[in-house]
Amino acid sequence: MQLRVTAACALLSIAGLALAQEQDLSKVEVKVTPVSGSVYLLQGAGGNIAASVGDDGAVLVDDEFAPLYDKITAALNGIGAAPKPVRFIFLTHYHGDHTDGNLPFAAAGATIISQENLRATLMSDGQAGNGGSMHMPHKAVDKAALPLVSFDRELTVHMNGEDIRALHAPAAHTSGDSIVFFEHAHVVHMGDIFVRYGFPFIDVDTGGSVQGMISACEATLALLPPDAKIIPGHGEVANIEDLREYVKFLKDTSTVVAKARESGKSLDDMKKANLLGPWSEKYTGKFVNANAFLEMLYFSTARRAPAISVKH
Ligand SMILES: [Zn+2]
Repeated sequence: MQLRVTAACALLSIAGLALAQEQDLSKVEVKVTPVSGSVYLLQGAGGNIAASVGDDGAVLVDDEFAPLYDKITAALNGIGAAPKPVRFIFLTHYHGDHTDGNLPFAAAGATIISQENLRATLMSDGQAGNGGSMHMPHKAVDKAALPLVSFDRELTVHMNGEDIRALHAPAAHTSGDSIVFFEHAHVVHMGDIFVRYGFPFIDVDTGGSVQGMISACEATLALLPPDAKIIPGHGEVANIEDLREYVKFLKDTSTVVAKARESGKSLDDMKKANLLGPWSEKYTGKFVNANAFLEMLYFSTARRAPAISVKH
């Protein structure tokens, strides 16, 4: 019974979040923050958008919600002297708060690019979930909203004097995540592999795992220069130290859960023992609570860490 109540609450909180986002979109303003070089951060509702804007046009990483298309376009046109067409959009992962804008941007001529697992996920009905009590069904998207270009391990776009390079991070937040580097500006967009709203969501139902999240963060740290600016999926721009602290949190919490599991403890035992108590105060946010995060760790600790492919 206890579990049922928890499941219902988790479901309500996700539905509530989606609903709140839909209702508020008419009032949303898109905030533009210069990050470095040609790269800007755009924040409306949903996931963060990174944009390289320059003489060759605009390249986006993620595109938020379709109803925000006009506001996002106006914000982009406000950067620099003349309006810049969006020519390419990289997607960090398939979740609607990062990809719902695909349709209007594609209709306006942008070429959408993603890792091939992401494209496959968008093509069919499915379910996002933490492997336990959190579930959120999603429908196959309109064919016109699918990426026109997909890749396996990495792909680079060369525009505005930038090399904008997407690397696949296997089995991390989902099965089809990309981390997108703006090589010259020393900026990276990590999608929801790195978020700043508290306990992160790991979409275990779509092939995500905490080991993949850790591997992806460590591979990113190994590639970044010390002055790098890190755009998270949600929240404000971070630095190397912030990402290091986040990796430590992922490692410490997943180790505690793996050890409890090895010693024969059940998921219920861990919840009753408040295993993530030491992190609750700092990381409990509106979206994911300690028990929901515990489930993500529990259901992904049995897996092995996948290696991210990195070409130096
Ligand atoms: Zn997400």
